Amino acid sequence: AKKYVLLQHFSGFPKESDLKLVKEELPELKDGEFLVEAVYLSVDPYMRAYEPRLELGTVFIGAQVAKIIESKSREYPVGKYVVGDFGWRSHTIADEKAAKSEALLVQILPDLGQLPLSLGLGILGMPGNTAYFGFLEICEPKAGETVVVSGAAGAVGSHVGQIAKIKGCKVIGIAGDDEKGKWLLDELGFDYFINYKKPYLAKTLAQCAPNGIDCYFDNVGGEISSTVLSQMNLFGRVSVCGSISSYNADYGHLPKATITQGFIVMKQLKIEGIIVTRWDNRQNEAFQQNLQWTNEGKLKYRETITEGFENMFKAFVSMLEGGNIGKAVVKV
Ligand code: NDP
Repeated sequence: AKKYVLLQHFSGFPKESDLKLVKEELPELKDGEFLVEAVYLSVDPYMRAYEPRLELGTVFIGAQVAKIIESKSREYPVGKYVVGDFGWRSHTIADEKAAKSEALLVQILPDLGQLPLSLGLGILGMPGNTAYFGFLEICEPKAGETVVVSGAAGAVGSHVGQIAKIKGCKVIGIAGDDEKGKWLLDELGFDYFINYKKPYLAKTLAQCAPNGIDCYFDNVGGEISSTVLSQMNLFGRVSVCGSISSYNADYGHLPKATITQGFIVMKQLKIEGIIVTRWDNRQNEAFQQNLQWTNEGKLKYRETITEGFENMFKAFVSMLEGGNIGKAVVKV
């Protein structure tokens, strides 16, 4: 078995030497235990954001789709696929009790029919739940409203934009690459795409949303979000899901963002931060709805798949740099 342990805390962008890939011998299973083998591992922005809180020497955090290959547990029989927060490990021994704890959150993956198992880490997993609850519960979109999504071509953002379309909204996606924009416009049905790496974001946004913005789903924070907030309508709703523009900034050197409090007051905006675990007891609702939309062809997905457990780090950094379209995953 192999695992990645944290050697030193990240400073700025993560370096490969911050983690170490080590081998480990796994013991025999005891009663109630089962052994899983990773099939797909997730690389997510939250890993960068949560890293400062990890203890040195621990296994790096993360979820995976894994197959149960040995078992002394009736609840977790051989052959089943599970999604769990096992971290960056090729093989993991878990016991039934730990499997139900918040730390591991092991769930047997329901039958997905023809769909790939990796979706358990994407539209049918944590990012899908984030898009579903984070957008619908906080933004409460109404047909005809104008919705802006930042980080629009990523796992969460591409999903939010499509839910907004399903709800009859006009959708403007912001991301950092024209090829991503093409996907959003041609395949996902976004109404407008803006590349934030090009100049005149504010002007372009105003052209796309001449009547102002009603809902903003914020994945990135920083200057992009300041610009969006300054163009919101009265009683606009903002779901603050992430702030990836600052995750790699050293503490004390956070990027500057224009002060927007004036707009927030004058437009009486509702701005709410969200963490997807708030809706843990309603996960099945999001899963069923996202599955149905996918099967109906209303919700499309794309994955950027990196092959090989030894390429976890590369896949992680590539995702932070914008190398992914849709969900970034590693296939073992
Ligand atoms: P993505 O698939 O969107 O991947 C990250 C993307 O971020 C990159 O592809 C890149 O795209 C973009 N990015 C990187 N640096 C910057 C920057 N400086 N400014 C703007 N965009 C940047 O990841 P996820 O969909 O998994 O996550 C999206 C956001 O949602 C993250 O902020 C994440 O932390 C948050 N999140 C929050 C959850 C919650 O419970 N609150 C749960 C899940 C995710 P580009 O080419 O466009 O730059």
